[in-house]
Amino acid sequence: MNTLKIAVQKSGRLSEKSLQLLEECGIKISNGERKLKAVAQNFPIEILFLRDDDIPQYVEQGVADIGVLGENEVWEKDKQVNIIEQLGFAGCRMSLAIPKDEIYTDLNYFQGKRIATSYPKILNNFFAKNNISVLIEEISGSVEIATSIGLADAVFDIVSTGSTLLMNGLKEVETVTKSEAVLISNKNLSQENQVILDKLLFRIKAVREGKRNKYILLNAPNSAIDEICSVLPGMKSPTILPLVEKDWSSLHSVIQEDDYWQIIEQLKNLGAEGILIIPIEKMIR
Ligand code: ATP
Ligand code: MG
Repeated sequence: MNTLKIAVQKSGRLSEKSLQLLEECGIKISNGERKLKAVAQNFPIEILFLRDDDIPQYVEQGVADIGVLGENEVWEKDKQVNIIEQLGFAGCRMSLAIPKDEIYTDLNYFQGKRIATSYPKILNNFFAKNNISVLIEEISGSVEIATSIGLADAVFDIVSTGSTLLMNGLKEVETVTKSEAVLISNKNLSQENQVILDKLLFRIKAVREGKRNKYILLNAPNSAIDEICSVLPGMKSPTILPLVEKDWSSLHSVIQEDDYWQIIEQLKNLGAEGILIIPIEKMIR
């Protein structure tokens, strides 16, 4: 039977979340102990465990049909692949940092400076666009120590909390871009594989939509229903069920995670009681 080959990171910051995503899509993977390959039991997909640096090339060549990795790695490798879905995890920014006692003015600070990074292509594009010439020192890891050992004047690296920079006496002065995990695909997928990919994407979207939304239930006096409905968007409109208690109803709806605290406050002010917020596992609009 035809299977879709998906490349995920073998071990690192993306591994667990990549496998978790497949699991949330209802895909059961048989050999848990991460060899090079694993086969799903209930979905026509095969998992290849690779270093994230290699994934763009493998997907370009068709060794893997699709892959999960950070956008940063996709941009840096610059291979012929399609980015087909943002996955919402492994969020980070790519920033320029300098020794903390330096006085930073603006981007011109970097004119003629030596900058250490593992992402020379992204950095080069950025400074070329800003008409600033810099010397890029490409190193493969531990970029944050480059200034203290005298290799460079500044560093360009991935930052999530910024604590690694601080610990190394650096301060973040410019965010060049933001990145998160994405799903990429080969540009010439066979029709059979495209069908499998569409099924997978349908599930991924349902999982992501579910995460972005919450199910809300509340009780309210009938006199407040109209106003309450106006603050509850819902998939279509809220469901309203009568309570045994006279002149009261129960309302059910769906709200976006981002704004639910604000909505709850409004609902309370409008007289809602017994508000329940429940996670949604999958959501199909
Ligand atoms: P590999 O051995 O597979 O090459 P790696 O060392 O290159 O692994 P990791 O450190 O596991 O990579 O990071 C993988 C990806 O996780 C990064 O490319 C980036 O997209 C994302 N990421 C999110 N937050 C961070 C962070 N704080 N530091 C590094 N990467 C992060
Ligand atoms: Mg890597």
